[in-house]
Amino acid sequence: MRAVSAPPGEQREPLARVPSIDDLLRSPGGLALVDAYGRTLVTDAFRAVAADARAKLAGGAASAAGVADVAALVEAAAHRLAAMMTPSLIPVLNLTGTVLHTNLGRAPLPPEAIAAMSAVAAGASNLEFDLARGRRGERDALVEDWICRLTGAEAATVVNNNAAAVLLVLNTLARRREVPVSRGELVEIGGSFRIPEVMSRAGARLVEVGTTNRTHARDFVEAITPRTAALMKVHTSNYVVSGFTAAVPERELARIAHDAGLPCVVDLGSGTLLDLARYGLPREQTVAETLAAGADLVTFSGDKLLGGPQCGIVAGRAEMVARVRRNPMKRALRVDKLTLAALGAVLRLYADPARVCERLPTLRLLTRPQGDIRALAEQLRPALAAALEGRASVSVIECSSQIGSGALPVEQLPSAGLALRPLTGGGRAPERLAARFRELPLPVVGRVSDGALVFDLRCLEDAQPFLAQLAQLGTAESSP
Ligand SMILES: *Cc1c(COP(=O)(O)O)cnc(C)c1O
Repeated sequence: MRAVSAPPGEQREPLARVPSIDDLLRSPGGLALVDAYGRTLVTDAFRAVAADARAKLAGGAASAAGVADVAALVEAAAHRLAAMMTPSLIPVLNLTGTVLHTNLGRAPLPPEAIAAMSAVAAGASNLEFDLARGRRGERDALVEDWICRLTGAEAATVVNNNAAAVLLVLNTLARRREVPVSRGELVEIGGSFRIPEVMSRAGARLVEVGTTNRTHARDFVEAITPRTAALMKVHTSNYVVSGFTAAVPERELARIAHDAGLPCVVDLGSGTLLDLARYGLPREQTVAETLAAGADLVTFSGDKLLGGPQCGIVAGRAEMVARVRRNPMKRALRVDKLTLAALGAVLRLYADPARVCERLPTLRLLTRPQGDIRALAEQLRPALAAALEGRASVSVIECSSQIGSGALPVEQLPSAGLALRPLTGGGRAPERLAARFRELPLPVVGRVSDGALVFDLRCLEDAQPFLAQLAQLGTAESSP
């Protein structure tokens, strides 16, 4: 039985009852969509929803009404277009407890950096133009003085990320030559950056020295041949070698390299500009200390502990930085004006070490006292408990945050948060609840641990956007 009667002959041919694309485009709803999105996209959307409707009818949908009439198709197209035009890169709330979360965009930028980016985004800028002389300039010059001032380097250059910095340094100094590295430092970062692979892509030959747990100065001395280009040290960012261990410190490695007339390069990974111990954080060797220990070139990330935009910095001896800059690969790996604007603003915040911890979000979040985070958890608990009434219990917990991005991997920062324990729904219920929070307009990303969805509140500085959307979690009945 069909609710809508069709002309004779079309009884067994429901496909014909789907309105034509022209009819849809000429309908009032269709015209409104064309006004909002343009004819091309709307036509594509109508084709797609008409095809869906035909499939539904062919699959035995009882009626064209509500499936294939003009109103239903216009509505379906409107949903489709709205979803398509929503940006795919959107903000989320990082309540994972990992402050520098690589999958969630790493370092949050300070307002000064955002202002600097928007100031140059819309129009022309002096990116590579020396305004004093009225001729071509060098984009690195926009930040080089600040990097040198904060690290003691003679010169510096900036590329897309630290992986690019390592690739470029090795390709510049060691193409078709050998680079000894300790077996204890052949790191893999995030699955795709592995020292042996970067080395071979850079055209250099890795010479593994020492053992996984112990590498001595003599291992490096014995590895040096006429084909050696540089000695390299890599920060073991995301693991620690503990127990019966030995590594060659920078100062000694640099001395061995210099005695042999070779450069010493250090991939510092996170690269801090200040001694974090003064802010109560675990100690991490700074870029300045590494250069002072004799390293000729140091590479580090802009968006790890430094707290800036994604980039990689090469700092050190002027003559070697100049060679790095002349490498044709530099052109392929350089950064754009937005990155340089943000980096310049972040570096200027470091000029005042007494206040940088307050002004730079990364350092502010990392040093946030547990008491403050717990107070926020207490404050949010009732609203969350009310929103999840009958579905999950909500309790304030103590937890530990991590710095993330391979900085100080074993250090835990005492933190606090909320544990959401589903009351029903079995073993997968915490994952389903987590999915629910990720579907919110401002997705909330927590972690599932021990049968609960845990929100570490260290990175939640403004609770308002979090609270404002709790009503959209739905009710117990609508929960999956
Ligand atoms: C993080 C890291 C890298 C890669 O840096 P990106 O900025 O993510 O490209 C390379 N080496 C070490 C030691 C690191 O910790």
